[in-house]
Amino acid sequence: MTGPAETRSIKSLTLDELSARFGGLGEKPYRARQVIEWLYRKRVGRFAEMTNLPAPLRERLGAEFDERPLEVVRRTGSHDTTQKFLFRLRDGQMVETVLIPASPSLYGDTADRRTICISSQVGCAYGCRFCASGLDGWKRNLDAGEIVDQLLRVEGESGERVNNIVFMGMGEPLANYDNLLRAIGIINAPWGPAIGARHITVSTSGLVPRIRDLADQPLQIRLAISLHGATDAVRDQIMPVNRKYPLAELLEACAYFRARKKQKLTFEFILIEGVNDSPEQAAELAKLTKRLDAKVNVIPYNTVEGLPWVRPTERVQDAFMEVLRRGGAVATLRREKGHDIAAACGQLRLQTTRAQAGDENPVAAPGSVH
Ligand code: SF4
Repeated sequence: MTGPAETRSIKSLTLDELSARFGGLGEKPYRARQVIEWLYRKRVGRFAEMTNLPAPLRERLGAEFDERPLEVVRRTGSHDTTQKFLFRLRDGQMVETVLIPASPSLYGDTADRRTICISSQVGCAYGCRFCASGLDGWKRNLDAGEIVDQLLRVEGESGERVNNIVFMGMGEPLANYDNLLRAIGIINAPWGPAIGARHITVSTSGLVPRIRDLADQPLQIRLAISLHGATDAVRDQIMPVNRKYPLAELLEACAYFRARKKQKLTFEFILIEGVNDSPEQAAELAKLTKRLDAKVNVIPYNTVEGLPWVRPTERVQDAFMEVLRRGGAVATLRREKGHDIAAACGQLRLQTTRAQAGDENPVAAPGSVH
């Protein structure tokens, strides 16, 4: 990670860091606050348009920092449906961000929320078998500014104010831990977009040490675990991360997080025909969910081109839910497409690859995964 003393990405910096950088340039610290107000209150990203700064300072800032916003390559969807934004990063790589319109919360309450699903990496190293994001492996981590800018750009393009964030886009967020926490700190700051930590959910495939780190940091961020298997045998089959951090270790880390944060965890469980949709898996899942006092979102798999997995029939889905509920689990079946996107990543890599190849219709049905 590039440290705050060197980074050129202006949106990677906190107010204090920017003030220190301004001090180093011989500028008054209050100028840093003015820049921050332009960025996060007035939503003006170009130094040239920051009219209360002297012209020589604007020029200097342009030489010192990178102000370029993410470039919108493609936007699909409409005001009342899920909208997807394909962004080009400075080095030409692509990521996708998804805006889900006002709807009952994905995570239990019924408040109206405008949720954004943010990517944290280009590609992913974890290679979950059902996921398109990991098909081409890991390319690079996003810096904090690229993470923050997904929010700013989506709000600017859509005219919507987002009040709920899920880190469930491309990448394993906890594998980009420092940049993730830095971005969350900025998004949560009173001088920044000021979105409450309880409205920010990080979803992980199960990086045990990082779950413990997240539990030990002070923000009340929510945690969702991509479980997708209620036994090691099933998880091993579809999630290589389980060989490094088996279920027992993962559940211990979850219990630690639960105890430290005193908040409910969410398990995500993508239902795949013949893999994890049996009544036995449902019964095991009910036990785990009850033991940890968690909630579980069951998401029927959405087909990913090039992968062999299949969505179970609705009859099988309903039977799975019935066993879960009889086992005492608090469980929700998410068949809606928009929610499927927010509950998972999955097809983002395929979409960007096709867009790069010039495909006119790159956005397939919502994906599922992480
Ligand atoms: S599900 Fe998440 S952790 Fe697994 S390969 Fe996809 S992006 Fe990576």
